[in-house]
Amino acid sequence: MSILVNDNYNNLEKNYLFSNIAKKVNAYVAANPDKKVIRLGIGDVTLPLTKTVIEAMHKAVDEMADQSTFRGYAPETGYDFTIKAVQNHYASFGVELASNEVFISDGAKSDCGNITDIFGDNEILIPDPVYPVYMDSNIMCGRKINLVDANQENGFLPMPAGVEKKSYIIYICSPNNPTGAAYTTAQLKEWVDFANETDSIIIYDSAYEAFIKEDYPRSIFAVEGARTCAIEICSLSKTAGFTGTRMGWTIVPAQLVRSNTELNPMWNRRQSTKFNGVPYIVQRAGEAALSEQGYAECQENIAYYMENAKMIADVLDEKGIWYTGGINSPYIWLKCPNGMGSWEFFDYLLNELQIVGTPGAGFGKQGEGYFRLTSFGSHEATAEAVERIRKTL
Ligand code: PLP
Repeated sequence: MSILVNDNYNNLEKNYLFSNIAKKVNAYVAANPDKKVIRLGIGDVTLPLTKTVIEAMHKAVDEMADQSTFRGYAPETGYDFTIKAVQNHYASFGVELASNEVFISDGAKSDCGNITDIFGDNEILIPDPVYPVYMDSNIMCGRKINLVDANQENGFLPMPAGVEKKSYIIYICSPNNPTGAAYTTAQLKEWVDFANETDSIIIYDSAYEAFIKEDYPRSIFAVEGARTCAIEICSLSKTAGFTGTRMGWTIVPAQLVRSNTELNPMWNRRQSTKFNGVPYIVQRAGEAALSEQGYAECQENIAYYMENAKMIADVLDEKGIWYTGGINSPYIWLKCPNGMGSWEFFDYLLNELQIVGTPGAGFGKQGEGYFRLTSFGSHEATAEAVERIRKTL
């Protein structure tokens, strides 16, 4: 007799992607100490928090030191001032949200995983390749997962045409990690119509919405019909450099009903039971990041990263290498040249050009033969890597 454990964990594929990369890079550096390796695989921000955010955090720290302004537990769904800041942010691109539809969280990864709590044993529909958390969190609860192929033919933006019509939990990430591809409003409308027609739910990850500069929707709720079929998960991690500060939000519209149950109060109950709120200091930082001045500063940082993306995109254009992303997203997803496989190209870039990127095969089967470069490095390092590619590739 023994305690039963969650056997579903045995079904997880060992995720060797980043440890394999680290092993190969460490071995190369040890064998070639004189060579300068440039990392263009970074999925984390590198610029520090902005001035307005830091000032707000310092002020909040001082408040915590004074009995009259000290705060204990934060409200589970967020302070009113943070919720208001998120509502204003959405209003700036034309999406009106009620205050009780916004749930402040400690980031998108947690909520991408936590959201499975409010659903039963549904089938899941996930694009391949994609951010691995959607897949793994559903494997952990034993769900049946259906993959929908993203590939060069569909611009790495799979559409519902051809998907068997039944109810699914559908995961959509736009702009996408790893491919950098972004859905247009018309394309998202097809997914929204599919979801409403089949009684499905879309979990929409908009973690990279702040990188959109062209005419793409910043939120699924900019698409007509989404309020009856979608939940949106977003984060300040990439918008404001909060990867180590931790704040995001989840939007559950009041109209969202499945199996005669309103999902908004259900998510509220879930959060109130299992989550004790984001720290006051962090919520003040988040409010500051979304203020007019704070957001302008965040956009300066994003513009810095996007100059890197442009440098990378330009050299790929020169070389005639196919890619997506890099315009409305910090990620560039390219086809490995000369028919190389993802890992083959990884080895080539590391050994010949001393550049580290991320093999597309690590994000799903359809990623084989593709490769992810990111723009989160410095201008200097990116420019040097780009020069190496220009000369040698
Ligand atoms: N969603 C996507 C698509 C991501 O790429 C990431 C981080 O890389 C996250 C969510 C996680 O964001 P957070 O730092 O808010 O947990």
